[in-house]
Amino acid sequence: MKVFKFGGASVKNAESLKNVVNIIQHYEDRLFIIVSAMDKTTNQLEEVVKTLLERNERSFESSVRLVEEFHRGVVADLSLPSSKELIEELKDLFDALRRRYNSPISAHFGFEYDQIVSLGEVLSSRILASTLKSYNIDAEWLDARQLIRTDNHYKEANVDWSETILKLQNCIQGLPNKRIFISQGFIGHSSEGYTTTLGREGSDYSAAIVAYALDADNVTIWKDVPGMLNADPKYFANTQLLSSISYKEAIELAYFGASVIHPKTVKPLQNKNIPLLIKSFVNPLKEGTVIQQEQSADKLVPSFIVKKHQILVTLFANDFSFINEDALAKIFERFYSNAIKINLMQNSALNFSTLLDADKVNMEALIELFKPEFSCRYNENVELLTVRHYTQEILEELLEGRIILLEQRSRQTARFVLSK
Ligand code: ASP
Ligand code: MG
Repeated sequence: MKVFKFGGASVKNAESLKNVVNIIQHYEDRLFIIVSAMDKTTNQLEEVVKTLLERNERSFESSVRLVEEFHRGVVADLSLPSSKELIEELKDLFDALRRRYNSPISAHFGFEYDQIVSLGEVLSSRILASTLKSYNIDAEWLDARQLIRTDNHYKEANVDWSETILKLQNCIQGLPNKRIFISQGFIGHSSEGYTTTLGREGSDYSAAIVAYALDADNVTIWKDVPGMLNADPKYFANTQLLSSISYKEAIELAYFGASVIHPKTVKPLQNKNIPLLIKSFVNPLKEGTVIQQEQSADKLVPSFIVKKHQILVTLFANDFSFINEDALAKIFERFYSNAIKINLMQNSALNFSTLLDADKVNMEALIELFKPEFSCRYNENVELLTVRHYTQEILEELLEGRIILLEQRSRQTARFVLSK
C-alpha cells in the first residue's frame, strides 16, 4: 500500500481535481488517498463557526453560502456525466450545517468547531471520489470519522493508536478486492462518536497515521513546490532542492520553521522506517525529496529558514534576583499554561529573552501575566533567521548590514534575531 496526501492547493478547482485524477491513474499500486479541504475552505468554515457562536444569523447564512457556492461551482465546472447523486449529497450536508444554527449549542467552543470545520474534508473527499468514478476508477470512500480514533481534546485531538490501528486494519482487510481508497485528512472521532480534528494543517499527520497503521511502503505528500527546498523562494533566490534528507533533519527543519510538512508527520514514519516523499503535483514525474533513515546527504546543502513577524520579549526580575532554575520554572510554567509557544530563548544573570510569534501574543496580557515578579521589555518587528549547516562565509554574506539583536550557534545551526 502507498499513501498519498493531496493538500488544499492541489484540489482547489475542477482543473486541479482532474490533475489529481491523472496522477492517481499513473499508479498501479494499492493506494490510500488522504485529501484536505479544498483551497481556503477551512478558513471559511472557521468563519461559519464564529458567526454561529456570535448568533449573527445573516453573517452565518452568508458564510455558509460562500462555502456552498464554491463547492457547487467546482462540481458544475467538473461537468461529471452523472453528478445528480453528488449534488444531492452536497445539499444534504449543507442543510445539516444550516440546521446547526437553531440546534442547541455546546458551551465548548472546540466541540462546535470540530463538528463544523470537519465538513471541508468530507466535501473534498466526496467530490474527488465522484470525479474518480466518472473516469471509471473504482475508489472506495472511507469515513475517517469512523477510522481515526482520538481523545476528546477538540481542535487538537490526540490519536488513540491502538484503536486506530485496529480499525484501519480491519477496514482494509474487509475490502480485499478494492485497490483505491479515499479518505479525509485532519479529522477523526472520539470514543463518544463525536467528530474531532487533529489541529490546523493536520492532514499530513493523518497520512502518517494511516501509513503507520497499514505498514505502507511509503507516503507521498503532493505539493505545489518541487519538494523540500533549502530556503523559501519567497525570500531567497537560487533555492536548491534537498533530494534526500534524514527523518532527523526533516524534524529539525520543521521545528525551526520550514513549513513544507506538518511537524508531527515524521515521527510515526520514522518509527516504522516508512519513507516520506514530497513531490510536485505540477511535475509529478520529477523526483522530489525523499525523507528516510539515511543521513549521509544531510550536510551537503545549507538550509535557511526565516520566520517573520516576531517579537523579542525580555523579562527582568523586579527584585534583582537571578534568573535561576526557580525563576525559569516559574517563567516556563506561565508560558505553558497560557499556551504561548516560544521560538527561541536565552538568558543572562538578570534577564530572560524569548522570541514569540507577534500575531499570537497580546503584549498587555503578557505583561500582566508576569506581574508582579517580572517586568517586560520588547522589540517589535523582528525576524528570526536560522541557518542549518552554515559556513562562516555564508553567515557573513547573509548578515551584512543587518542589526543582530541576539544570536545563538551550535555546531550545525546558527540562529539570529534581526531587526528590520
Ligand atoms: N484543511 C485543514 C487545514 O486547512 C487541514 C489541512 O489542510 O491539512 O488546516
Ligand atoms: Mg488546508
